[in-house]
Amino acid sequence: MGQESPATCGKCGNLFRVRQGGGFVFHLLHCDTCGEEKVVLFKELGEIHLRYLKGLPGPYSISTQEHDRHVRENYSGEPLSEEEYYGEVEKLAGECPCGGRFTMKARPRCPKCHSSKWTQDTGAHSQITTSGLTASTKLRELLHMITT
Ligand SMILES: [Zn+2]
Ligand SMILES: [Zn+2]
Repeated sequence: MGQESPATCGKCGNLFRVRQGGGFVFHLLHCDTCGEEKVVLFKELGEIHLRYLKGLPGPYSISTQEHDRHVRENYSGEPLSEEEYYGEVEKLAGECPCGGRFTMKARPRCPKCHSSKWTQDTGAHSQITTSGLTASTKLRELLHMITT
């Protein structure tokens, strides 16, 4: 799951917050050149995400497990491997305005000098919430059902 934590740049000393991973309804990618963030919602992926869920040995996350099981049992499409899936997610994310590519594995960079040589400050870790993002109403209802 996604995580936000304080970091210190090893090059310019800038203090910033790094966000990595994603959430229940989206992936967070970074540009492999400048570190810019790109959010890809599962709903934008549509069938691709369903095919990935189908190919998983278990639920994607505890909070979505009922939905995930429902997909595995009822969705009849071809399952995708994680590698193929990541390839599709990256294809959808497209290119960064700087000419780089958004990838699942690219490391976030210092927003000031774009160095990837930062260290994570240990201590307070906080989960990113999905509240600022627009999940589809259906998914929101589903998550509400599961979490209450
Ligand atoms: Zn820096
Ligand atoms: Zn870029």
